[in-house]
Amino acid sequence: MFAIYIFTVKCTKCNNTAVIKIPYAGLYFCREHFIEWFERRFKKVAKDYKMFEGSKKVAVAVSGGKDSTTLLHLLHALSQEEGFELIGITIDLGIDMGKKYSQLSTEFAVKNYEALGVKYRVVRLKEEYGFTIDEAKVKVRRPVCSTCGLTKRYVLEVVAEEEGADTLATGHNLNDVAQYVMTGYFNGDVLSLARLRPVSPAENGYVKKVKPLFLIPEKEVMTYALLKGIPFLYDSCPHTFRVGGASSEAIRRTLEELEDKVPGFMASLVKNFEEKIRPRIEDVPKETLGRCKICGRPTNKDREICSFCSLRIKLNTLPSPRLK
Ligand code: SF4
Ligand code: ZN
Ligand code: ZN
Repeated sequence: MFAIYIFTVKCTKCNNTAVIKIPYAGLYFCREHFIEWFERRFKKVAKDYKMFEGSKKVAVAVSGGKDSTTLLHLLHALSQEEGFELIGITIDLGIDMGKKYSQLSTEFAVKNYEALGVKYRVVRLKEEYGFTIDEAKVKVRRPVCSTCGLTKRYVLEVVAEEEGADTLATGHNLNDVAQYVMTGYFNGDVLSLARLRPVSPAENGYVKKVKPLFLIPEKEVMTYALLKGIPFLYDSCPHTFRVGGASSEAIRRTLEELEDKVPGFMASLVKNFEEKIRPRIEDVPKETLGRCKICGRPTNKDREICSFCSLRIKLNTLPSPRLK
């Protein structure tokens, strides 16, 4: 549970009462100075990692939750300073489970697009691809979050390409990325670690992908969204996040506990991975890609059909082709 604390201490920069403590930096901020600091840091990370250098049209994936709606607002401001075009993409995944989760998430995303005047596209999975994530959970023997992740990656790529975007931005925050790094170590999954990047260049038919919030802790994103009055869906997905199984969830909780005891732990983990480990695994042989015989998109060269088309065949939303 998140809360904005009212401290009796003063802001590090002015005489106003602080509303947030940044333990790893030993700073306290009032509302105004936290917002200023947060926005400056967002721009610095984007600049340091050359996230939008040369970008003409940026697609941003917006689920309606705090991270992606915050990213939408930050990118909207940046697009006006840097002069790139911005388009939002929202996927209505068809997750209901008695909570109308996807319907409400989509409504929050649209509310933000319209308030900012950002162009957007809503992709309804059931209408465009013939299934919902709830249906896939029942019909396919695969963890639901893994199916959902595969679906989101595929659809976002396709739509970004259709819309002529050269860059695709997603709202992964520091806690997400720290969890992926630690899960990669835990599983000894060098290939996943090699693929985990704040900026993935455009290559092999994939659009350039960026994670502009990857060094910003979840708590700070939440505080920024609340202080700025950004509307977002507070509720969590009824399937809860299960990519990588229970161990992955336990790793996230442990990392967050460690962060409380050792402020700055997650940022060091991610930065050290990026700056010291990544250069040593750059030459890990990458997947050799071929083209899916159905949709023509990139796929592992040993597979004739990509994972997404295979999923659709299992769900009977694509006819099974006769392959050689
Ligand atoms: Fe998809 Fe799982 Fe996230 Fe729900 S928790 S939106 S099913 S990845
Ligand atoms: Zn202040
Ligand atoms: Zn395919």
